[in-house]
This record gives sequence, C-alpha cells and structure tokens, in this order.
Amino acid sequence: MSDIEKRMGKLRSGTVAVIGVPLDENSSFLRGAALAPQSIRAALKSGSANMSTELGIDLDSVGGWTDLGDLELTSGKDSLDRIEKAIATLTSSGTHVLALGGDHSISYPVLRAYAKAYDDLTVLHLDAHPDTYSEYGGSRYSHACPFARIMEERPTLKLLQIGIRTANSHQRQQAKRFGITMVEMKDWSPKKMPRLDGPIYLSLDLDVLDPGFAPGVSHHEPGGMSTREVIQIIHGLPESLVGADIVEFNPTRDPSGVTAMVAAKFYRELVGHMLRRG
Ligand code: MN
Ligand code: MN
Repeated sequence: MSDIEKRMGKLRSGTVAVIGVPLDENSSFLRGAALAPQSIRAALKSGSANMSTELGIDLDSVGGWTDLGDLELTSGKDSLDRIEKAIATLTSSGTHVLALGGDHSISYPVLRAYAKAYDDLTVLHLDAHPDTYSEYGGSRYSHACPFARIMEERPTLKLLQIGIRTANSHQRQQAKRFGITMVEMKDWSPKKMPRLDGPIYLSLDLDVLDPGFAPGVSHHEPGGMSTREVIQIIHGLPESLVGADIVEFNPTRDPSGVTAMVAAKFYRELVGHMLRRG
C-alpha cells in the first residue's frame, strides 16, 4: 500500500482532501499540465500571500482539510482506472475532493466516481471548450472528450457549461443529444448564473479565464472571464459543493507565475468553501 493510500484510509467523513493528478498525456496540443500540482503548491508556499480565503477562513489555522500529495500514475487506461479508484475511495468515506490536474481528461474518471457516490449530481463546468467530442485525434479519452464519456454513461447527470466560446456544430449536436445546458460566453453575464441545488461538482478549466488573466494554459482562447468573475461564481455556489477540480494549468506557459497564483487562489477559495459545510 502506498503512502497516499494509507493517508486516504484515515480520513474522517467531511474532510476536504486535495489530491494532485499529474496527467497530461491526453492533451491534444501541448504537454505540461502534469507539472501543475507541484507548481500550484509552490505558489501557495511562496510566501507571497497568506492562506486566508476572502470569506475569512485561515486555512493555516483551521483543521478539516489536508493535501494528500500526488497520485502515482502510469499511462493509458491504467491511469484513468487509478484515478477513479482513488476518488471512489475518498467519496465512499464522505471526503470532499479538490483534484488538481492535469489536463481535463482527468475529470472523466473523477466524475465516474462522483456520479456513483451521488445519484442526483449536478456538474458545473467552467471552460472555453465544451469538451464533448465523441473522439478527438483518434482518442476517446482525449482532454477534448471527458463530458461526452460521462454523459454517455450517466444520461441523468445534470451538466451546466458556462464560458464556452469554441462550440462547433458537432459539439452543439452533442449538447442537444445529452441534454447539456450550455451557456456560451457571448450570452453570459454574472446575473445569469442559475441557482443550483443538490450535490454540486465544479470542474474548473483555467482556460475559461481570458488569457490576459491566466496565460499559463495550453489553449489560449481570447474573450473569457475575469479572475473576479470566477471567484464570484465560487462564492455564490451553495454549501452543497461536494467536489471540484482545477485543470489545464500549464506551467510551461507561465513564465511570470501569475497563472500559478490564480490557481492557488482558486485552491484556497474552493477548500474554504467546502469547509463551510461544517
Ligand atoms: Mn476543458
Ligand atoms: Mn478548455
């Protein structure tokens, strides 16, 4: 049994657990996202900011959360199976997970585990891209496909996508086919944020942000959200947020380190939000 498995086995129900998922082999354009978990942790520990959330939770002084470190991964389907198994171990003990990708392909095995643990799950997906290709570049497990895979398996899952600005006709058809609510960036404003209830999972692709705010992503898609708009969405989530991921941060495109700090900020706000459930 690995160290991380031992630590996973000791968590009490209601704990918030951060887990690194350093996988980028399913990226269609650039590698580099596998370096994200260590880069986010380095930003958190850099001394440039404290560990307080904006809503007043000092993560350095409260208990109830832990960073488990990175999953040990291999390649191909075995990695996806390892991710699902680890997340299922955590959800079955009532742990609330913040997964640090990695490219967006990690969200498929994470969501498989979550959809098994929560029947009436709603997934809020913030992204420039719908990631619903039936296959991409010859792969069904590409980072361009995770939401097609999970909707094929879990047709009753409620999926709300916000910030989309690259939908083509195939992806519009996919949205119709799977009953996905897709709010494109051109139509979105903070006032249009729907009310969510029941257990919520947030999948946060950093390229939902305008590349001016977060250049360290593999796919620069101009015309996105501000960092503040994403923080407001996080703060507005109900207390029934049961899990989240932060994906697609690519440290090789982040020479100034600003995207690492954006990811570290979302890390703090999301852990703090899940702790509020008490
Ligand atoms: Mn994505
Ligand atoms: Mn994206």
